[in-house]
Amino acid sequence: MKILVINSGSSSLKFELIDMTNEKTLAKGICERVGIANPIFTYKNLVKGTKIDKQEAPMENHSIAIDLVLKTLQDKEHGVITNVDEIDAIGHRVVHGGEYYDDSVVVDDEVIKNLEDVSALAPLHNPANIMGIKVMKELLPDKKNVVVFDTAFHQSMLPEAYMYAFPYEDYTELKVRKYGFHGTSHKYVSELVREVLGKEDSKIIVCHLGNGASISAVKNGKVVDTSMGLTPLAGVMMGTRTGDADPAAALYVMEKRGLSLKEIDTRMNKKSGILGIFGESSDFRDLEAAMEAGNERAKLAYDMFCYRVKIYIGAYAAAMDGVDAIAFTGGIGENGSDPRETICEGLGYLGLKFDAEKNKERISGTVELSKPDSKVKVYKVETNEELVIARDTYRLTK
Ligand code: ADP
Repeated sequence: MKILVINSGSSSLKFELIDMTNEKTLAKGICERVGIANPIFTYKNLVKGTKIDKQEAPMENHSIAIDLVLKTLQDKEHGVITNVDEIDAIGHRVVHGGEYYDDSVVVDDEVIKNLEDVSALAPLHNPANIMGIKVMKELLPDKKNVVVFDTAFHQSMLPEAYMYAFPYEDYTELKVRKYGFHGTSHKYVSELVREVLGKEDSKIIVCHLGNGASISAVKNGKVVDTSMGLTPLAGVMMGTRTGDADPAAALYVMEKRGLSLKEIDTRMNKKSGILGIFGESSDFRDLEAAMEAGNERAKLAYDMFCYRVKIYIGAYAAAMDGVDAIAFTGGIGENGSDPRETICEGLGYLGLKFDAEKNKERISGTVELSKPDSKVKVYKVETNEELVIARDTYRLTK
């Protein structure tokens, strides 16, 4: 059984073909600048170890891009299958499922209608995701398509956690509430940690710290709370996003600078966060390098980032009445030993004893970073969102 995972964005399209008999990736790649000038195609055959590195390729639209993906997967030189019939089903990442879905679902006309209905909540993402599904249905009409939502895993939150104290009709009429994102990652990591802990009753805090960052509290396998909100702007500070801020600050900046709605949206989503404070880059490695060279704004951004993650951990320990394990994942969470140490240093009050030496070792896979007598375990876990999408697609179509 082979599952093709598609993550269709507005101008990019990521793909991965996974063999479900052993959950190994056969090939993966990305189409960039789809529909704009100078499109680029990158592809890796993990069976033979061959690759196509950032090659220019005509991709005027998503249909041509997906067609190129399918042709390359079957190509004599780079391919991993001889015929598209070997692909059993397609799993699509969809950002927003609104309140319609608390699990992945097999695509039919009603699903497409519901996705279009919630598109207003994720105008940059859902339309592009839907386009990927429609193109796939056109190109491979006999195959089943499954959608896996960023929001679904968080649907277990109780109203007390997901409601905003706006007038109630903003919830009933406009669907304004907390939804949460990165659900596939939070699910994968929390399930893995639950298995490692070896107990059903578990309180796990997952810190997904990448360019986008979110934290979730997962009690007995169910999300109790998560840091992102109606959109992925809320929560901890991110590469280019503000994270939590007084909502009135946005109104004030808008008024004082004479910004339009679109301009304040861009300012908070694309020009803030680490980039906004540090001023030179949104990349955490650049930030750490500048900090080492004595850049004070880099140090401030680093301190703000770690502080905010730490206070979310405290809040989520409170939300679950305790915590058994904290897991770090995402580009920064998996690789950034310094931020992990800075964050965990201030958590001794929870009974956490951090193993600073182990934390510095660069070991791949799941690694325990707490001392054996620590009351709260700390893990570094490599997330795998594509595998969650492939597993759900397999589960719903086999
Ligand atoms: P995205 O949200 O785009 O998927 P990733 O999860 O790939 O992002 O994370 C990207 C972030 O991870 C970048 O800020 C990058 O600098 C950071 N990162 C990658 N490697 C390291 C490292 N060795 N140390 C610290 N940060 C790192």
